[in-house]
Amino acid sequence: MHVVNEEECISCMACESECPTGAIEMRDDIAWINAELCEDCGECTAVCPTGAIEQK
Ligand code: SF4
Ligand code: SF4
Repeated sequence: MHVVNEEECISCMACESECPTGAIEMRDDIAWINAELCEDCGECTAVCPTGAIEQK
């Protein structure tokens, strides 16, 4: 699964735009990943400018 480190997210929304499964939404200006929709493709980690998204 992929998770967002809330302290490192700068609300750029790049990951939300890139996610092919629609698993990411913005909640209170922080990206949030729906684990049920995430397919661990890694696209979000590739586009995040701050490295806020990690695979666990
Ligand atoms: S790993 Fe892929 S499917 Fe999962 S949240 Fe990131 S872009 Fe979406
Ligand atoms: S790409 Fe990174 S910084 Fe931008 S909204 Fe997503 S988690 Fe936050």
